[in-house]
Amino acid sequence: MAQVFISAHPLVQHKLALLRDERTDPKKFRELVREISTLLVYEATADLATVPTVINTPLGRASAQRLSEAVGLVPVLRAGLGMVEGAWQMLPGAEVWHIGLSRDERTLQPIAYYSRLPVSPTVDVCLVLDPMLATGGSAVAAVDILKKWGAQRIKFVGLIAARPGLERFASAHPDVPVYLAALDEELNENGYIVPGLGDAGDRMFGTG
Ligand code: URA
Repeated sequence: MAQVFISAHPLVQHKLALLRDERTDPKKFRELVREISTLLVYEATADLATVPTVINTPLGRASAQRLSEAVGLVPVLRAGLGMVEGAWQMLPGAEVWHIGLSRDERTLQPIAYYSRLPVSPTVDVCLVLDPMLATGGSAVAAVDILKKWGAQRIKFVGLIAARPGLERFASAHPDVPVYLAALDEELNENGYIVPGLGDAGDRMFGTG
């Protein structure tokens, strides 16, 4: 089973409550997605390697640590785009590669329509960003693409998962830890998370 981390941080939980609220407008929704993503990425990067260094402060020499691993961000289009700014708050130098996966509304299977990755991985850790891990189809497909590409360490950062989708993801990719703000129990017949927050892309971009 993959490691699953569900943030119990009060700020994450408070912002998630506002995010789920049907009265939250797209501007506020985008702000909340950005803020929660920042907090989740902070948690998801807690095990990044550092190297010791020495810094001259205005008053003397200080022992310090610098990150020694490069991180790449992989938002899954389109709703994953809303998580990039928040992740960049923590990782301003991160490269970003986009993976486009749409869902066949009849079969609920993911269809890859866009993926432009460099020839070989240029980072040590990839963070897949996708707010809703619903049936798990897109998350599994995105990680399949990254593994075929040669990514060695991958983490998944989402906002809400549904238990059936999370179980599917964990059995397909038990080596990929998952960072979330919440785990809901159910999917409806259209593959939406219940209670979830509705369609994250529509709420973010004001469509639908
Ligand atoms: N995608 C969404 O935006 N919401 C869901 O509930 C499921 C998939």
